[in-house]
Parts: sequence; structure tokens; C-alpha cells
Amino acid sequence: MDNKNQVKDNSTQQDVKSLDTNKTSLKNSRASLAFDMLKRNVNDLNDSSMLSSPINADAETQFHTFTPNFLFKISDIRGVLQKNKIWAKKMVDGDSEFFNRLSLQQQPKLLWIGCSDSRVPANQILSLQPGEVFVHRNIANVVLNSDINCLSVLQFAIEVLKVEHIIVCGHYGCGGVAYSMKEKSDLDLPIIDIWLRTLKDLFEDHEEDFKLLKDDKAKTDFLCELNVANSVLNVCRNSIIQKAWKAGQKISGKNS
Ligand SMILES: [Zn+2]
Repeated sequence: MDNKNQVKDNSTQQDVKSLDTNKTSLKNSRASLAFDMLKRNVNDLNDSSMLSSPINADAETQFHTFTPNFLFKISDIRGVLQKNKIWAKKMVDGDSEFFNRLSLQQQPKLLWIGCSDSRVPANQILSLQPGEVFVHRNIANVVLNSDINCLSVLQFAIEVLKVEHIIVCGHYGCGGVAYSMKEKSDLDLPIIDIWLRTLKDLFEDHEEDFKLLKDDKAKTDFLCELNVANSVLNVCRNSIIQKAWKAGQKISGKNS
């Protein structure tokens, strides 16, 4: 790191001014174009909290770390990037061919459909390495046969990767499931309201069953379970997997 290229002031305006100075040496580069764009954004937002830490003037580094606070605190993202470097080194130290193998082709035999909740990451929970599980996640692990994102993942997993197992994983304490059960909320999330409509339908369809449960936690847990069952059913009913089963492809217990 070159000290003279470090932007030392923390204020927004001075950071932008320093970027102007550094820009001279970065003329016609990709970073220069990025700085122009960022400067415009910073000026538009006119928020001194946006840029809160010294920035390395190295073009590539600056391009990747000059991120507004509303997306990521710069200090945090630096820590994340550093963790990534440490992790990569650890992997190579343990297996010098690790990344060479990954660069060839992924061959996961498992598709995981789970919740976007940061507490339920597929690889860590299953203790699997990169390359060992193909993953689709969304809020509340919902599988809808109208969701082109999920269906694309399903098609690729079945028809290209030839996965042998599909896991739909829900989890207790799911914020999406709990939100869907509220008649009123302080949150105004109209898109998520649409997304979770299927959970509200499940809740209404099983209204009598829910009445038998005494407390909110039991009800939320039950809806988590119903939701997983419903998503599994939707996977099984989908034409992609139906076609594969009909053709004798080994997936999740059938034809195996
Ligand atoms: Zn969840």
C-alpha cells in the first residue's frame, strides 16, 4: 500500500476532493469512470455519513470498497474481504488443488431450497464444501410454480446437474412465516405481502387446526411445518420433476 496514495480525511466532501486528485492518474481507466459515477451519487445524496473511513487510493481496491453506508459500512466490507482472503488461503493450505478443481465444473448431487434467513446457510448447516450443493433461497423457503427464479434453479438442477436429492428446508422462528400470520404490522412491505400470500392461504385453509393450538409459538411452528410440506408438494407436482421421474431419472428416492 502506497501511503501517499491514501485518502486520509474522513469527511464526504474531502473524500470526493481527494478522489478528484487521484483521478488524474487513473484517467481513461475503468476506476476513473466508476469514480465519476460515485461522485455524482455522493453529491446527489449529500450525506456526510455516506463515506466514513479512509480509502485506499489503489484503483482496483477503491473500485470495490467505495460503497455507500446504506449498502455496507466500508469498515465492515473491508473486514469481510479480509475474511475472504484468509478463508481462501486456508483452503489452499489444506488442499493446493482446491480452487483448480472448482474451476473445472460443479457437480453437486444435492439441491437445497431454503429460507434466505442468514441463520440457515445451506453449506454450513450441512457441513459441505463449495461445489457440493446447488442452492436456491428465498424468504420463507416458498416454492411456487409461478416463480420463474425457483423453476429455473429446479430445471438446471434436474436437467443439467442431474441432482439426486432435493431438500426443502424450513426453520422454526422464521421471520417470513411469522410476518405472514400478522393481521396488522408496523412494517409496510407490500411486495413481501404478495410473496407470502401462499402462507396466508395455508393459514386460512387450516384455520380449524390452528384453533386447537394454544399459543402463538405453536401456531407459528405449525405454519413453518405446513409451509415446508406445501413446498415439497409443489416441487413434486412440477412438470420438470414429473418429466424426470417419468424418464427414470434418479431423484429423491424415486427410481433409485
Ligand atoms: Zn425464514
